Amino acid sequence: MRGRTLILLLGMVGVGVGIAFDKGALTLPVGWNPWGPLSVSDPPTPVTRWKLGRLKDDPEACREVLERSAEPALAYTPLADHEPVAGCPLENVVRLERAGVTFSSSFVATCPWTVAWLRYERHRLQPAARALFDEPVASVEHYGSFACRNVYGREDARRSQHATAEALDLAAYRLASGRRIALAGDWGDDDVEGEFLKRARQGACDLFGTVLGPDYNAAHADHFHLGMRGYRVCR
Ligand SMILES: [Zn+2]
Repeated sequence: MRGRTLILLLGMVGVGVGIAFDKGALTLPVGWNPWGPLSVSDPPTPVTRWKLGRLKDDPEACREVLERSAEPALAYTPLADHEPVAGCPLENVVRLERAGVTFSSSFVATCPWTVAWLRYERHRLQPAARALFDEPVASVEHYGSFACRNVYGREDARRSQHATAEALDLAAYRLASGRRIALAGDWGDDDVEGEFLKRARQGACDLFGTVLGPDYNAAHADHFHLGMRGYRVCR
């Protein structure tokens, strides 16, 4: 078959498949459809991860995902692009007051980070808490998100994900009953709290880009670093 004929045939097949999707003759499983907006409820797949990545440069689409999130407790304030500290401009950010859980304090995060967090709560964190403790996580203690600095504060290092408000340092989870599970104290324990923290970290790995914890180094002994950049960095 000559090249041109092959291209023509492939083109016809492509148009046919496109029409079939359009008429509803073919449907993809939820979470695998590359068209249409991302939804917080979509199950985590490589396609949803890719769609989340696209929201980085599309603030409008990202805020629509938040508005459609169906998380009744969610409270946030969209922020205009600004430069709170010279050298660290922030784009596509919100002040997150609460999600499904409350936070020890509100913080500035990028919109895609906020979407990733909502997906983390729904698909990973709360199912793990319910399975192990029969109750949900109600609140989260953290050490902050935005910090205009390089990695480890070193001058010769690359910019930290905190410099663009694309990361949160999470110190502890508190369940609805008040039971507190902290990285400092419960990580690595051979009990239900230790198991919960293991699942809480593992579950974050494919929803964020970079997840670091006590196993990575001493600088992360008391918190999980949940960052957007990177791909399945999980240590
Ligand atoms: Zn961090």
